Amino acid sequence: MNTKPKNTFLWELMTWPEVEERLKLVDTAILPCGAIEQHGPHLPVDVDYFDAKYLAHKVAEACDDPKPLVLPTIPYGVSYHHEDFKGTLSVTNDALSRFVYDIGMGLARNGIKKIIILNGHGDNAPTLSYAAQMINRDAGIFVCVDTGETSDVDLYGLIETPNDIHAGEIETSTSLAIRPEMVQMDKAVNETLSFGSNYLDYDSDRGVSWFVRTKKISETGVMGDATLATAEKGAKMWELMIKHLVGLVESVKNTPLSDLYQKRY
Ligand SMILES: [Zn+2]
Repeated sequence: MNTKPKNTFLWELMTWPEVEERLKLVDTAILPCGAIEQHGPHLPVDVDYFDAKYLAHKVAEACDDPKPLVLPTIPYGVSYHHEDFKGTLSVTNDALSRFVYDIGMGLARNGIKKIIILNGHGDNAPTLSYAAQMINRDAGIFVCVDTGETSDVDLYGLIETPNDIHAGEIETSTSLAIRPEMVQMDKAVNETLSFGSNYLDYDSDRGVSWFVRTKKISETGVMGDATLATAEKGAKMWELMIKHLVGLVESVKNTPLSDLYQKRY
């Protein structure tokens, strides 16, 4: 008996005739992208990969039919700055951007008109934006990248730690909420960051982008305060992230490509 779920949104679980049928109903795809890199002494190295995949699936589940198609998650990202800590496996910006570009061009050839890249790792952002720009140039389709912009303002309102960007209060809370068995809270530490200029603050509205090896600013790899994490905060964070991303995906999915750029009444 064929017990395969009929209404899956996962690209890789469909046959080619099923993909062909689905593409007649929906022109929007979500491409999650993660990283394999150190997340302090208390979290596994797959956090950015696992979370990007989890988020993409939850967002698609919460969307109306026809649901956006969800692509397999890209596990590796740009993580050189974490390489002083074992477990980190970085790919180059060139490799990642080329890989995403090729997937995007393939999606366009399949008939996808809108790609939403869900980025689980901050330092992939410039590379993914570059790939998005090139896909748009060469295929003329819509591509956007979310690295948390749709909900960061809400998340920062839920926490106490400034500059909490890596394996700290936010990421430890989100992990506690969905897979507490992977969090070793007895090893969680506080490495709250403060810099010589306010314009370097990661959570500043006026912050510049800048780059540093993690080891220079953190002994353990944590950037933030993991000791303040709770599952309750994490559940609230997931709820907000899913809500805003569903808002983004639904509005993009339900708007014809030409109207996305200039809404016509
Ligand atoms: Zn992370």
